[in-house]
Amino acid sequence: MTHLTRVNVVGSGPNGLAAAVLLAQAGLRVRLWEGADTLGGSVRSGPLTLPGFTHDLGSAVHPLAVSSPFFQTLPLHAFGLRWIHPEVPLAHPLPAGAALLHRSLEQTAEGLGADAGLYRRLMTPLVERWDDLMGEFLRPLPHLPKHPVLLARFGLRALPPVALLARLFQTQQARSLLGGLAAHSAGPLTSPASSAFALMLGGAAHARGWPFPQGGAQALADALSGYFKFLGGEVMLSHPVRRLRELPPADLTLLDVGPRALLEMADWPEHYARQLRRFRYGPGAFKVDYALSGPLPWTDPLVGRAGTVHLGGKLTDLVRAEAAPGQNRVAAEPYVLLAQHTLFDASRAPAGQHTVWAYAHVPNASREDALPQLEAQIERAAPGFSRLILKRTVSTPGTLQAWNPNLVGGDVSGGANNFWQLLARPVLSAQPYRTPLRGVYLCSASTPPGGGVHGMAGYWAARLALREGQAGL
Ligand SMILES: Cc1cc2nc3c(=O)[nH]c(=O)nc-3n(C[C@H](O)[C@H](O)[C@H](O)COP(=O)(O)OP(=O)(O)OC[C@H]3O[C@@H](n4cnc5c(N)ncnc54)[C@H](O)[C@@H]3O)c2cc1C
Repeated sequence: MTHLTRVNVVGSGPNGLAAAVLLAQAGLRVRLWEGADTLGGSVRSGPLTLPGFTHDLGSAVHPLAVSSPFFQTLPLHAFGLRWIHPEVPLAHPLPAGAALLHRSLEQTAEGLGADAGLYRRLMTPLVERWDDLMGEFLRPLPHLPKHPVLLARFGLRALPPVALLARLFQTQQARSLLGGLAAHSAGPLTSPASSAFALMLGGAAHARGWPFPQGGAQALADALSGYFKFLGGEVMLSHPVRRLRELPPADLTLLDVGPRALLEMADWPEHYARQLRRFRYGPGAFKVDYALSGPLPWTDPLVGRAGTVHLGGKLTDLVRAEAAPGQNRVAAEPYVLLAQHTLFDASRAPAGQHTVWAYAHVPNASREDALPQLEAQIERAAPGFSRLILKRTVSTPGTLQAWNPNLVGGDVSGGANNFWQLLARPVLSAQPYRTPLRGVYLCSASTPPGGGVHGMAGYWAARLALREGQAGL
């Protein structure tokens, strides 16, 4: 056994924080280097519009954080984290009435009328074994499963494109609900395995909910860093690391950065550098934060009971919208992901006033102004919305990358979620966290299990680093 003492972690997103926490729990002296002046990566909040309004700069809704096998073991409550569950996790407005994704699987199924039975059959086996499924799924896909039957069951449902899976359902409600969930993948809904996103996010709603931290997403990052410091960890803010040699000597180095930044950090062997160069980023996000004088005036009042809203209409419209970024254009009627936190968390805005967080997928690094299309989608479902705007702040793909270099071209997932990159993220290996440099590991969302706030890339990378470091490998 080699005795390990010092660790550098670069980047304080949820994966960097997870890696830092695990290694500090193991008794190592961990220093966390963050380029920005605030911790949290894409899990940050700030006053983006007017005084008294708190907005989430990146992530807004956290089904994967509450499903994360690692985060669930941490005493985050003791470090100030309070989860707020909206009355309904998700609404998808449609002309014939919104489709609602409730916490209760049964209530959701009942709302889907003729599709109730099929929805139950699709979701029940996954939801009943949620923790086992998360243990299998939130890790590199090529592994020896502990629950092979469960994983096979999930795989059979998850592998078809959602555009096909959804057509097994008769109602527009069920089809659109599944399409809207799968659209979180930011890829075409005709892609293989796009159904996996619908199952994961739908299942998470029933098993754990779609909550958000009271006061803003930053509260999650602050709870993680509070626990990290309690364990003796040290945080160095405003310290961008360009080359590995800038770091003080350490036994292990964990990097919460993307493949492009990694390429610049050292002189890698050509076979590794070639794989990093081949890595592809997905569509960018065009994001708008609003301070509103009142709640959104939804035509369908049921939508006002939901924390998250998917705009974009029926399945065929969603398929068309999500194909557009890949064809290098902004959709005329884009799919819009919207969160209305202040309906459930009054601490984020002055009394009676509200925030809205919304984004649409656009081509990677697009400079096109997508505001008219995005606002037309909100106005369609909530006529009169624009009269409530006190202030809006637009974040283009370029703005996003400027405050977090991991958001390359505005890609919020750390890399395209295509079928190949579900397997090879960023390289095809059972241990894609390992780099050719001894003691140096990649741990960002550009490694398995990919984007989302779950910290599991950091967890698996840190476990590997610890095991190999102790074995002197
Ligand atoms: C607009 C937006 C909306 C999102 N919505 C959701 C959502 O609702 N729910 C959800 O689960 N997920 C959401 N996500 C995705 C989620 O936030 C990310 O997948 C997740 O934060 C990735 O975590 P990470 O630790 O890999 O990296 P990041 O969170 O990107 O953090 C990386 C950190 O490393 C730092 N860094 C990078 N390079 C260097 C360097 N060279 N030196 C020093 N520091 C460096 C960066 O400054 C940053 O702080 C969203 C993301 C965005 C941007």
